Amino acid sequence: MRVPVATKSHHYDVVLGHNFLAEAVKSFDDKLQKADKLIVFTDANVWAAQGDYFKANFPYEFEVFVLPGGEACKTFEQYNAAQTFLLEQKCSRKSFVFAFGGGAVGDLTGFVAATYMRGVPFIQIPTTILAHDSAVGGKTAINHPLGKNMIGAFYQPEGVVYDTIFIESLPEREVRSGTAEVIKHAMISNATWLKELMAADSVIHFTTEELAKQLKAGIEVKAKIVSEDETEQSVRKYLNLGHTYGHAIEAAAGYGKVAHGEAVMIGLVYCLLLSERYGELDRTFTKEFLQFALKNGYPFEAVNHYSFEELMEYLLKDKKAEYGVLQFVLLERIGEPFVRPIELAECKEVDAEFRQLLA
Ligand code: NAD
Ligand code: ZN
Repeated sequence: MRVPVATKSHHYDVVLGHNFLAEAVKSFDDKLQKADKLIVFTDANVWAAQGDYFKANFPYEFEVFVLPGGEACKTFEQYNAAQTFLLEQKCSRKSFVFAFGGGAVGDLTGFVAATYMRGVPFIQIPTTILAHDSAVGGKTAINHPLGKNMIGAFYQPEGVVYDTIFIESLPEREVRSGTAEVIKHAMISNATWLKELMAADSVIHFTTEELAKQLKAGIEVKAKIVSEDETEQSVRKYLNLGHTYGHAIEAAAGYGKVAHGEAVMIGLVYCLLLSERYGELDRTFTKEFLQFALKNGYPFEAVNHYSFEELMEYLLKDKKAEYGVLQFVLLERIGEPFVRPIELAECKEVDAEFRQLLA
């Protein structure tokens, strides 16, 4: 399966399949033949779980640099180590970089590629469900001690090779986390699709075919939006549904404690409560959606671990916050997002409603 992404700065394809790494990477042969060196960045967990398959199927010679697992690779230290590796390997602007891992490896590698010698081409090889989102669209970043994803660039890959065989070793918690972004893609685009997800016995244990279908649908939503608005001037903001409140929970907990998608799911329910005030969605639907999330094992305890005042500190750090007014993505109906400024006092009211709902 192939999903084209056509941003202003770059056109590329996401190729999606199962057990097809060799063939999929080979489809970029014309570009890779011209490269003087291929470098693979991955993380320790991914390399331990999938390194053998990767080595057996990657169709070219390559050098590998193994980063610490997960979010720990998105630091200045690892950024520096990755650049040092490229220099030591005598990489030139004709070298090619691969990000083999989840969103964390993808974000770090993308930023390394964007800045090494002012930019070398890179290909994303995502290994998580969440990365159906993060690997597409060209946002790259590392974290600063004062804020997540604060240092980065918009830099599009040459392509995305998504082999769902990698998902087989993904821990269930990470499957759940990534699926929250699939659910978000359904919520901002298609009521029928969301209904199907909500009716499924489980959204965590899809068959290979069903998973591919869901990922493709998610990638199509993301591809369409970033093709229209690469740098988040307009419709790309809709992808932030659930992320304003979600990021506050994620940050308050300390990154990694609450997984990104777990926090997004919390944020999605919060956004439904807020949407009730401005659109056609009602409390009955919000409750149904909460039950759907609980049934699939999404944890909500984190909400009660922090007061609104604690969360507020992080809400105000949101890149989209201005003068104490937050920009929330809300839903008129499922599939119809819009952006609305919301004052902190109202955020607090809805936060109280949320806590009541969870009680
Ligand atoms: P991740 O990359 O941290 O991976 C989650 C965990 O699973 C890690 O411990 C990782 O080592 C491990 N792992 C990954 N693939 C595996 C596999 N196939 N088998 C076994 N273990 C595996 O997390 P993620 O959820 O993929 O991504 C989260 C990151 O993505 C965050 O840093 C977030 O900021 C970023 N993000 C970026 C964008 C974007 O547009 N650039 C969008 C959303 C999220
Ligand atoms: Zn997200």
